[in-house]
Amino acid sequence: MTGTAHLFIPGPTNVPADIQRAMIVPMQDHRAPEFAEILQPVLAGLKPVFGTSEAQIALLPGSGTAAWEAAITNTLSPGDKVLMARHGQFSALWADMALAMGLKVEIIDVAWGAPCPVREVERRLGADRHGEIKAVFVTHNETATGVTSDVAGIRHALDASFHDALLFVDGVSSIGSIPFEMDAWGVDMAIAGSQKGLMCPAGLGIIAASPRALAAMDTSTMARSFLDLRAMLAAHQAGSFCFTPPAQLLHGLRAALTRLQTEGLANVFARHQRLAEGIRAGVAAMGLKMVAEHQIFASDTVTAIRTPQGIDARDVIAIARNRYNTHFGGGLGPLAGKAFRIGHLGDLNEGMCLTALGIAELSLKAAGAPVVLGAGVTAAQHVYAGVAQAPALSIAAE
Ligand code: PLP
Repeated sequence: MTGTAHLFIPGPTNVPADIQRAMIVPMQDHRAPEFAEILQPVLAGLKPVFGTSEAQIALLPGSGTAAWEAAITNTLSPGDKVLMARHGQFSALWADMALAMGLKVEIIDVAWGAPCPVREVERRLGADRHGEIKAVFVTHNETATGVTSDVAGIRHALDASFHDALLFVDGVSSIGSIPFEMDAWGVDMAIAGSQKGLMCPAGLGIIAASPRALAAMDTSTMARSFLDLRAMLAAHQAGSFCFTPPAQLLHGLRAALTRLQTEGLANVFARHQRLAEGIRAGVAAMGLKMVAEHQIFASDTVTAIRTPQGIDARDVIAIARNRYNTHFGGGLGPLAGKAFRIGHLGDLNEGMCLTALGIAELSLKAAGAPVVLGAGVTAAQHVYAGVAQAPALSIAAE
């Protein structure tokens, strides 16, 4: 195919050229004292991105899923009860993992498209008179549905119930793109990966452990070896890893953190919000519905879009890929065939979002959806230009 391939999946995201170049380095001795010169700035630079000065950060060769597992096996014990909402593919997979690791999982099932229900969490915590719930798991940004949950609200629910369960938060598709306040929200385990907001290739799970989480490691009896956080934190302290690290990725992460610092985190968050608003305006102008049940909790990093009745989202995705060299995310689990996703996180600007909407329109049209070509792009342009749109376009309904 000619031209640039457009990657609009919600991770891995586009790796900017300076980060790519930063990773072209010779192999180095990860046991040499100078290895700390690359590791320490990465660990220090990640702290503001996680919104923490108190937590300790470990880098785990693997991905976000490895960090999910590390959060569980380093702080909990077999048979412990944990509380979590299931409202999308990733919260569902994390619940499956918790079950597989021998935890008792109290699941709050809510619609895919809703956020983690703060009031119901508070009710369950209040009813837990004997403190059986040892941890609450929250998927901050459900990448499958494009929904962001209120982590501060969950912290409030814990405090209001005088409950001392640990708070684990999956920030895989939020950290580095939208505000994340680990210390202010009292998060005990915060989880990210290298390949989304941090604009690097996949290969590192990143986990930040609060002082409470570190203390819980003293009593946890789960088996752990490769993902033993205390061993990794001690190795980091000494300037290295427990085993051979993906050193190139650390160079990439350092360059990514420099980018985030240079742009300024507040500006990074504002950019993601602005770009997402354009995408949402475009989706509405196409006459389509988001999977997110309400704008209030629609994600600023990924938008999951329902295709009109009778239009298979898999066809839309295949047309975009085969005709237009453009990659959208598929609908996951029960949303397969019913939704497609535009990832809008990481190294991204207005032009890229307009391209995503323009290709979505072309692909939807070719799949038989009654969209008015240009309607979505025009609506997004008005958002990006900061001007109101004349109420002239007639939008085809599904
Ligand atoms: N959690 C969320 C919210 C995700 O979006 C993903 C992957 O997309 C994961 C966890 C799993 O992360 P990984 O694929 O890096 O293992």
